[in-house]
Amino acid sequence: MPADKFDIAIIGGGIVGLATALSLAKSRPDLRLCVFEKEALIGEHQTSHNSGVIHSGIYYAPGSLKASLCVKGVGAMISFAKENGVPFEQCGKVIVATREEQRPRLRALFERGIANGVPGLRILNRTELLELEPHAEGLEAIHSPTTGIIDFRRAAEVMAEKFKAGGGSVETMAKMVSAEHTGSELVLKIGRMEIRTKYLINCGGLYSDTIALMLGVEPGVRIIPFRGEYYLIRNEKRHLVKNLIYPVPDPDLPFLGVHLTRTVDGKLEAGPNAILATAREGYRRSDWKTGEFLATLSSPHFWNMARRYWKTGILECYRAVSKRSFARELQGLIKGISEDDLVDGPSGVRAQCVAEDGTLVHDFKIVEGPRSIHVVNVPSPAATASLAIGEYIAGLGIKSYDERT
Ligand SMILES: Cc1cc2nc3c(=O)[nH]c(=O)nc-3n(C[C@H](O)[C@H](O)[C@H](O)COP(=O)(O)OP(=O)(O)OC[C@H]3O[C@@H](n4cnc5c(N)ncnc54)[C@H](O)[C@@H]3O)c2cc1C
Repeated sequence: MPADKFDIAIIGGGIVGLATALSLAKSRPDLRLCVFEKEALIGEHQTSHNSGVIHSGIYYAPGSLKASLCVKGVGAMISFAKENGVPFEQCGKVIVATREEQRPRLRALFERGIANGVPGLRILNRTELLELEPHAEGLEAIHSPTTGIIDFRRAAEVMAEKFKAGGGSVETMAKMVSAEHTGSELVLKIGRMEIRTKYLINCGGLYSDTIALMLGVEPGVRIIPFRGEYYLIRNEKRHLVKNLIYPVPDPDLPFLGVHLTRTVDGKLEAGPNAILATAREGYRRSDWKTGEFLATLSSPHFWNMARRYWKTGILECYRAVSKRSFARELQGLIKGISEDDLVDGPSGVRAQCVAEDGTLVHDFKIVEGPRSIHVVNVPSPAATASLAIGEYIAGLGIKSYDERT
């Protein structure tokens, strides 16, 4: 470790922690900054286990942090990718209404996108939809031309390189295990080392709630991990999807529904579903951490959520075990796909923030403590919005740091 004293320590070397570090370094080059990441590589969790989509900002409630930071973040991410050779493509996507009763929800989504200032949105009739996606099912659709695909892990790596080039440190294999307040500092136990910092920013993703609790800050919410599994579509059927095809989502859920996504490395993925994970970083169904699972099961957050969403939960579990049912869902979006065209693919685990009454928290949530900030809910589209989120958190962090030091 290069030093054991810092002005601001950032916990978590995912895309949000690194974007925050980069923004802090740009606005305050005088501060000693360090990112601590528990894995050997940066970006090993949500940052590299996602759909790789640059979202345009259609879905989110106008006035929410998600809406404003996503719309701002798209432009920032695309400029960043262009300047730094991060693979990306602004290919556009369609959201399709496949049943008559989905039309009002599609129109409401379109209005939301307009209210959020998403550029270029258009309603397509069936003929226009087929010009863009000849195999899509759908009565009508929204076309979002600014949506894209990108390699978010590479974007995070470039952020780390730039941060280090500006004098910041990134320590990997550096897990924060405890924290203690002294009068003017925090003493953090990082693995077996002790470091001192005047301020801490928690970007710990799936562990952000437990890190807040280590600092004595009750975030009022808990992270419940939801695994999202993808299938890959066989090569012979990749031509069925030109770009990205999404369903009309359930407005009560913060998930976008199973979609078809082309990736920057030329694959076609279908997914993700959303099922309760038995470990916070449980990418396989067999992954199990007793302590973590018991903590989930013993929280009122979980049981109140289960009471609210049990029907959706059962349907998701059924679709997870039945490939046929997953294929049927996809057949609702495109013609010509069968169960045999689906091959097991990657998975990711969402850090879903749940309030004590069981509500799934939709908006980004940031909680402040004495000498610390905790980024406790930054689900999708936080990878898209990461540079804008980083700027926002860095602004809050610097203000609070200056007031306290
Ligand atoms: C299935 C899925 C699909 C998604 N699709 C999209 C999409 O298409 N577009 C989009 O914009 N967003 C998408 N997202 C959301 C996006 O991936 C996340 O919002 C984003 O990656 C969050 O970044 P992060 O840095 O907060 O979290 P992470 O990438 O999870 O980083 C947190 C880091 O903290 C580290 N850490 C945790 N505890 C400690 C500790 N005690 N000490 C040190 N380090 C610690 C972890 O090891 C990890 O590296 C998706 C997410 C999932 C799961």
